[in-house]
Amino acid sequence: MQKASNRGSNPRNPVFSKLILNFYFPIKLIMFKKTIEDFTCFNCGFKVKGNGFTDHCPKCLASKHVDIEPGDRLSKCRGLMLPISIDYLKHEFTIVYICLKCGSIKRVSAAPEDDKQKLESLTRVKKALNNKFK
Ligand SMILES: [Zn+2]
Ligand SMILES: [Zn+2]
Repeated sequence: MQKASNRGSNPRNPVFSKLILNFYFPIKLIMFKKTIEDFTCFNCGFKVKGNGFTDHCPKCLASKHVDIEPGDRLSKCRGLMLPISIDYLKHEFTIVYICLKCGSIKRVSAAPEDDKQKLESLTRVKKALNNKFK
């Protein structure tokens, strides 16, 4: 009993430091661990290598509805998400997705390995639509 309270009050004790570390950083560590994952694109079958940020297929840009907030993997929907539009802001592409199952719209930053032709065709579709509905 005496031993345990000593351990808890000594900040140089490695067990104590570890407890403090777990207390302050557990959520971050769990989220980081959860987001690194390989997956097979269920639109085109491409084997996607996860790098911790990957949330869509770099070949066809399809995504899966797994997040409520980006990276949290808390959505139970698991529907197929397809790109419907794209924005180019601050030297970065933002892809707009719609979930074919529940109709949710979400915006995701394009990854450096994304198929450039697919990104460009999305910008062309967007331009064409903008001209049509002006
Ligand atoms: Zn794909
Ligand atoms: Zn959904």
